[in-house]
This record gives sequence, C-alpha cells and structure tokens, in this order.
Amino acid sequence: KDFRNNIKPNWCPGCGDFSVQAAIQKACAGNGLEPDELAVITGIGCSGRLSGYIKSYGFHATHGRSLPVAQGVKMANKDLTVIASGGDGDGFAIGMGHTVHALKRNIDITYIVMDNQIYGLTKGQTSPSSSKGFVTKSTPKGSIEQPIQPIKTALASGATFVAQSVSSDIKELTSIIQQAIDHKGFSFVNVFSPCVTYNKVNTYDWFKENLISIADLEGYDVHNATGAMNSIMENDGLLKGIIYHNPDAPSYEEHIEGYDDQPLISREMRLERDTFDDMMAEFK
Ligand code: SF4
Repeated sequence: KDFRNNIKPNWCPGCGDFSVQAAIQKACAGNGLEPDELAVITGIGCSGRLSGYIKSYGFHATHGRSLPVAQGVKMANKDLTVIASGGDGDGFAIGMGHTVHALKRNIDITYIVMDNQIYGLTKGQTSPSSSKGFVTKSTPKGSIEQPIQPIKTALASGATFVAQSVSSDIKELTSIIQQAIDHKGFSFVNVFSPCVTYNKVNTYDWFKENLISIADLEGYDVHNATGAMNSIMENDGLLKGIIYHNPDAPSYEEHIEGYDDQPLISREMRLERDTFDDMMAEFK
C-alpha cells in the first residue's frame, strides 16, 4: 500500500507540512487502507496543496470549505475514509463556522489542521492562532488579540476525539492519525507545523521547549472532558498527545435510519413522475 504519487510538493525546504503528509501516508498504510478507499479534501493555503500529493481521491476546495465538501463526500459514500485538511487561516478564520459545526455534528471523518500560526501562502500575515504580540506585516506593532486555542475550541464544541502534536514528532503523529481514522465520529487533530520561511518565533526548537506531553501529566484521564479542559487551560493549550476521546458517542450517521445499508452513490434513484408533479405542486 503506497500512498505516494509522482507529484513533488512545492513547499519550502524544511516546511512542517512535509512530515504531516508523510504521517498521513504512513497512518493510512498502517490502517490497511487502499488508495481507492481514501479521499483527501483540502482548503486553500500552503497546506491545501496536500490533496494533490497523496495517492487517493482528492478535492482542493475553496477557502475554508474543506469540511463541507468532506462531509458531503462521506454522506454520499460511507465506505470511503475521508480526511479533511488545511491550515489555521483556512480552518479557524474563514472556515471557523464549518469547523465548529463539524465538531458538534460528529460525522465520521478526520480533520487535520496544519497549524503554523501564520498565513504562509500570502507571505506572512498574522493568523487566528498567532500569539498575542506577534509581529508581522499585518500587525507591525504586535497582535493585540488573544489567539484561538484549537484544542480548547474543539473540546468546547463537543468534539469526541481531540488530539494535538507537532510535525517533528512523526512517530507520535502517525499513531495519533491512525487512532483518529479508527475513531467512529469526528476526529480533530491539530498539528503544529512550522512555517520556516515566515514564522521565526514558533520554530521546531520553540515547540520542543514549550509543548508538554499528555504522557507526562500524572493521572491524566483521556476520557474525562472536564479534566482535559482544565489541563488545556493550565498549560495554555500547549499539550501534545490525545487530549480527549469519547468512543461511545453515537456518530451523526448512526442517527440516520438506513444509512448503513448501502452507500448513497450506489443506490438506484427512483422518482416517479406523479411523485415529482405532486412535490412541485406543493411549491405553487
Ligand atoms: Fe511551508 Fe511557510 Fe513555505 Fe508555506 S511559506 S510552504 S507554510 S514554509
């Protein structure tokens, strides 16, 4: 099982997105998937190019719209493993409405955010997850806003699987993505993926020094949402590992009678002429 294609990514040398791509490919292979069982849907931004770099079905959606497309794909074909992906600008600014609704909806897809805390594709502006005081061309005196903390937002929105890692820890990231794909429901994975060209603050070394592993927190219970939120607050969102997992929550699909019988795309659509005319008459 090889999820590599012959397209060479045009990310800057050293960009964190390379490792996220590799971790996704390893995780899919590790989970026994075939390329024709996977769909990768992305938004706009450097990370949005990912859908072209993985051997699978793919769709490069418009800005902030990876999640609506990904959810539509899953509803149409329940047999596909669907991964949505994009950056912090894509998912937490223009796409934030979709992100929060997908989190609460719990449809069975995986959302991987490559969070580099800056807009890289447009040459370095402050993003929703940039730190307070962050200096860029768009905030030359330093950002005066609090940053979005993705895992806090995810948990508060009712997510059933919340994880965070950094692209330099490819072993952990691969394992997290494997578990995220296996989770029956919406799985949210925030990956700190350094932009080596424009973000000179949140570097690989910065994350090495500042991220705290869940494994090092004594008595941490991954199934306890209140405890998870307390730990996020106490550590300023700088945690890595699986932060919260509720394997028992029903997925969106489980509420839909007959959804599991056959994928919608392979069902025969029958609409009798009389039925159609009756339906149209109701609108007159
Ligand atoms: Fe990666 Fe930044 Fe280069 Fe974009 S600009 S490819 S995020 S290093």
